[in-house]
Amino acid sequence: MVQKCNIIFFDLDNTIYLEENFKVSGFKVVSQFLEEKKILNFIQSYQSLLDILKSKGSLYKKTFDDFCNMHQLSTSLIPEMIEILRNHRPDISPYLDFVEFVEQHYQKYFLGIITDGTGPVQQNKIKSLALHRWFDHKNIIVTDCLSPPSNKHNRSVFIIARNTFEIKEAECTYIGDNPNLDFKHPHQLGWKTIRILRGEHSIIQAEKYVDFEINCYSELNNLIRL
Ligand SMILES: [Mg+2]
Repeated sequence: MVQKCNIIFFDLDNTIYLEENFKVSGFKVVSQFLEEKKILNFIQSYQSLLDILKSKGSLYKKTFDDFCNMHQLSTSLIPEMIEILRNHRPDISPYLDFVEFVEQHYQKYFLGIITDGTGPVQQNKIKSLALHRWFDHKNIIVTDCLSPPSNKHNRSVFIIARNTFEIKEAECTYIGDNPNLDFKHPHQLGWKTIRILRGEHSIIQAEKYVDFEINCYSELNNLIRL
């Protein structure tokens, strides 16, 4: 059993909401743009983009290249499509079991977020997910917005997060989904690490920096001392 954890830090993408839904939301806005510009009708674009997402997965980086090839469109459109995807206010929601968990615990524990990704994109996601309901602004760390910008490959990010509170490393927990990014530094710092098996990374084999794996947030209740 995990010792009492005073701070629970969460990753954002796939940990709090399904990242694929961000893409679906962005593809809708991109398809609206293409229709407004009379380049392609909405249904045609949206369906093609969803088909690529389904066949290649949400981590695939060449979706718009494939899309332009498929419809014989100029690849000069791609930078604008990427900008639209990045800058749109996404229509996304937190997992229902995440909401249940934080509703139950946000008054008992400090809750924080540590997320990589492009600063403004992550900030838009945080707004859309209305995470300020449970997370104090100062406890939400978008690593790209640090000065200088950083990411979770740097141990200092987790030290900065912990230093926001006057507590010991052993009282920190980090919950994430990506074994290649999320757990090494918090684990080496003595934090508890919990992997939620959601999203594209859930198929990666477990590795040495993960203390526990869970399938749903109700399982967390068994891992923290209430
Ligand atoms: Mg993630």
